[in-house]
Amino acid sequence: MLITIDGPAGAGKTTVSRILAQRLGYRYVDTGALYRGIALAALGAGIDLADDDGLKSMVTDLDIGFTIQDGDTRLMLGNHDITEKIRTPQVTMAASTVSARPVVREFLLKIQHNLGHAKKAVFEGRDMGTVVFPGADVKFYLDASVSIRAKRRFDEFKGHSAQDVQDVEADIRRRDADDSTRAVAPLRAAGDAIVIDATNLSVEQVVAAMLKNILP
Ligand code: C5P
Repeated sequence: MLITIDGPAGAGKTTVSRILAQRLGYRYVDTGALYRGIALAALGAGIDLADDDGLKSMVTDLDIGFTIQDGDTRLMLGNHDITEKIRTPQVTMAASTVSARPVVREFLLKIQHNLGHAKKAVFEGRDMGTVVFPGADVKFYLDASVSIRAKRRFDEFKGHSAQDVQDVEADIRRRDADDSTRAVAPLRAAGDAIVIDATNLSVEQVVAAMLKNILP
């Protein structure tokens, strides 16, 4: 059984994917973390985020992947644990930029397919149901209004970030526009995805709606 959850930034995908995976005893895979990892590597190496040749030679020998430490999933770049470093606003915007580059998507497609061989997994991202796993068993597309998504993101990072709620909303609007208008693997619901609008739903209600579709 392979479950995919796509949707725009801040819709609550991460929270519900984690809970769903835990309830089902499945592996949870956060594919956005991989794009963030590539962005962090490119920023660290001083590579122009639109330079396909530079990105291509960078990913050729890039060792990026997840490891599990004491039951906790960590993102590793070589032997550096970058789990926390990829969560800054700068890396967030850079991830959106590099994710539009075909060379980056191709590189990560292989990594995601390898992770998918294990099955019994919940994959969270933007193109899980459309491009990476079009044959997934159950596909969800989780959406919510932009103001609710901005407020939730703001509440999550309050105290850790200098951004106010308007800044967060502006970033989300930009990422929505970039992610849904890019030429390769744009953000959209798969034709056979179950669309859930979480604007007025609690996390528990979203999880319950998903479980109903997985275990009817
Ligand atoms: O999900 P998260 O916000 O961590 O993703 C960071 C960025 O990575 C997104 O804005 C999007 O541009 C990109 N992404 C993607 N495809 C995925 C997952 C994330 O393009 N499957």
